[in-house]
Amino acid sequence: MPSLFNAPARIVFLLGFALTLALLPCAFGREQRVSASSPSSNILVARVHLRDEDELRRFVSLGLDLLEMREGDDLFILTDAKQLGELRAQGWQVAIDQQKSTLASEQAAETFSNGYRTVTEMRAFVDDEAARYPNLAEVFTYGSSWQKIHMGGSAGSDLFGIRLTNKQTQGVKPTFFLMAAIHARELTTSELALRFVDYLLSNYGVDADVTWLLDEHQIVVVPVVNPDGHRIAEQGYYQRKNLNTTNGAGCANPPTIFNQSGIDLNRNFSFGWGTVNSPGEPVCGQTYPGTSAASEPETDAIQNLIRSLFPDQRGTQRTDAAPDNATGIMITLHSYSNLVLWPWGDISSPTPNANQLQAIGQKFASYNGFTPEQAIGLYPTSGTTDDWSYGELGIASYTFEVGDESGQCSGFFPPFSCMDGGSGGAFWPRNLPAFLYAARIARAPYQLGQGPSPESVSANVSDH
Ligand SMILES: [Zn+2]
Repeated sequence: MPSLFNAPARIVFLLGFALTLALLPCAFGREQRVSASSPSSNILVARVHLRDEDELRRFVSLGLDLLEMREGDDLFILTDAKQLGELRAQGWQVAIDQQKSTLASEQAAETFSNGYRTVTEMRAFVDDEAARYPNLAEVFTYGSSWQKIHMGGSAGSDLFGIRLTNKQTQGVKPTFFLMAAIHARELTTSELALRFVDYLLSNYGVDADVTWLLDEHQIVVVPVVNPDGHRIAEQGYYQRKNLNTTNGAGCANPPTIFNQSGIDLNRNFSFGWGTVNSPGEPVCGQTYPGTSAASEPETDAIQNLIRSLFPDQRGTQRTDAAPDNATGIMITLHSYSNLVLWPWGDISSPTPNANQLQAIGQKFASYNGFTPEQAIGLYPTSGTTDDWSYGELGIASYTFEVGDESGQCSGFFPPFSCMDGGSGGAFWPRNLPAFLYAARIARAPYQLGQGPSPESVSANVSDH
């Protein structure tokens, strides 16, 4: 099948690429509003009907901008009229979803700074929190972004997170790891992660449950796994991937909704890498997994971070179960479509811990109202974070897809007010109880997830 990305415009970008990229922070500075002529303004959302498993697998490997949602046998893509025509010419059954298209265009036209934090503001926020609560919090760095390593100067970012625990209580503590914005444009996810940090710190010594959580557990939060990409999303562009330009010199710059430089970090993890999403995918496509497993500094660094937080508790075979008393739990936040997902994403057979993962997933769903299912139920993926963290280490691992599939609070850039309310919104009050539940069962999720209600779990343990 011919590349979908060999448009003549690509040559223009190729010629001006190095200079334009070097100027990117200035050329697309934060103060600049996203105008009607922004690449995001011609967005269409198209529904694609896939008739069988073979079509599904071929379609997800095209590198298109797949929305993380599904209705029956239909998937949805962000696209434009030209690409839509190419897909039709190739025989795909695609139709514009007018309602979703209108909404996507409206959201893209809004400025970023309507409440969501920039990477710089996120770093300042966690630094401030750690300064206010020195006995409970410390900020750490765990690597450098692609731009920081390869561009020099002030480009790029340290990769950073915040570790929360009562430093006065010693010993090895069960860990809940929460990460957000590995896909840069999924703005609500960072805000959720940061609010959770603030909730825990401000309620320590006030709320008995939170106090117990921080006395007896370690909660580690990385609010923006992909800071380079986030800086582009901050300008109103639908950047999903990191900013590795090594093999993407011909990709659109600034990025368009379906043509952008970079590697999809959530296809780059080293467990099952390259199987569904292979390096043969279009380099400028949205799910390009890189040239090798964990090739990206952001992926490599977060794998190392997660390894440092959890022991390896699972064998090397697909059929090896983690023990019932395995410790540790993680959630990676994405948007959107109101799903709670667990491994595997690359094969349809269940994991050897499927019943336990499902029980916990259903508890999460009982709090946030999402639909719980094995990840492949959305569509096949390979090299994802949670396949890796479960597959490699055996820890209970989840993806949340935050936000409705349609309506006011759907999309990548929903109004900031959707964090607290709005039709299909209230992301924060709905997900806080799920996060707290994850922390409560972090000691032995597979056992505690089958057990009594989470409220009594903490009460019982607190009594000892
Ligand atoms: Zn995502």
